[in-house]
Amino acid sequence: MSLATEHIAFNIEKIRKDFPILKREINGYPLVYLDNAATSQTPQQVIDVIVDYYSNYNANIHRGVHSLSQEATEKYEQARISLQKHFNAKKPYEIIFTSGTTHGINLIASGFASILKEGDEILVSALEHHSNIVPWQMLCEKTGAVLKVIPMNEDGSLIYSAFEEMISEKTKIVFLNHVSNALGTINPIKDIIEKAHSHGAAVLIDGAQAAPHIKADVQALDVDFYVVSAHKMCGPTGVGILYGKEEWLKKLPPYQGGGEMIASVSFEKTTYADLPHKFEAGTPNICGGIAFGAAVDYMNSIGFEKIAAYEQELLEYATAKLLEIEGMKIYGNSKEKTAVISFNIAGLHPYDIGTLLDKMGIAVRTGHHCAQPIMDFYKIPGTVRASFSFYNTREEIDRFIEGVKKAKMMLS
Ligand SMILES: *Cc1c(COP(=O)(O)O)cnc(C)c1O
Repeated sequence: MSLATEHIAFNIEKIRKDFPILKREINGYPLVYLDNAATSQTPQQVIDVIVDYYSNYNANIHRGVHSLSQEATEKYEQARISLQKHFNAKKPYEIIFTSGTTHGINLIASGFASILKEGDEILVSALEHHSNIVPWQMLCEKTGAVLKVIPMNEDGSLIYSAFEEMISEKTKIVFLNHVSNALGTINPIKDIIEKAHSHGAAVLIDGAQAAPHIKADVQALDVDFYVVSAHKMCGPTGVGILYGKEEWLKKLPPYQGGGEMIASVSFEKTTYADLPHKFEAGTPNICGGIAFGAAVDYMNSIGFEKIAAYEQELLEYATAKLLEIEGMKIYGNSKEKTAVISFNIAGLHPYDIGTLLDKMGIAVRTGHHCAQPIMDFYKIPGTVRASFSFYNTREEIDRFIEGVKKAKMMLS
């Protein structure tokens, strides 16, 4: 541990003990898990909550008179409040449980079908994940709205002046990620939200990649919609939230019809339930929602500022070491970035590097990272991506660097 690490009082030994999977061996080596941007690992505290749910109070929520149902409902609603506090939403019912980021984006895109007219414009950034591009393309096909793309610089940052030129009274919604999953770029969302609002446009922020590193305050940002997935922030897969401003959630039509989302149903007329139930049709991922609350509590118990400072240190350390390797090219060097390194080595295929690293017990991602437009921009098929979390160590980075060097030697 470096002096600087001690300085921020980050007890990495203790933290690592919370994650049982970190004890695993892969291909005869202790696991070095550097694929955190795809999914994060789960601490024992969250695993315990999942086991407790199915062992002790598994029941359907919101409509049971019996004790177990009431207990499950109470825990589920407590989790909603944990999430409300974490993201600083004004009201608990502005937090809608979803199956994840993709679901949240589709819910909003589908709702905007009733708002957009032909010739309206939607602005999207060049840095998006496929899940933040395709639903809007579908919406444009349905409504005749036009999709415009805010271009990016070579360093992986957005060209802000281009955004300023593109936004107009025709723009109805702007959507972009808070942090790019492929490059780690942190986008200037506060400025973008302010500017968009001055033209009357709504803003949806994809926070999937930011949420594990940055505590977003939705009221301070004045954002209209913010979506995340639990599995990128120490929670389980298949659950996430959509934050929406009350006015917007009241205005948008329901996404899915079903149980739980209605006030009354007859064949003549059905009226919808109040928020948040209007957007939560069917039996939700009850255990997942409760575990998501526990995950956010766990991360807050460590502290997001400490997490971000520690991860920045890992990022700087790993970047400097990687750049010592001949033929190394790192994509995305924006001043503001999270601990993600996307790279290639001249003449080598990212897939081959990833495969050899796996043989040494090191998990990285290779490919286009669901962001093909970014790869097209750099005119490459893909990259190797190492993404760090607060439970990674310098020793692991040393092993990763040695691994890359060895892979390079074997392949060239
Ligand atoms: C992971 C990710 C998504 C998709 O999240 P799902 O959990 O697969 O719905 C969307 N956007 C970004 C930036 C991501 O990192």
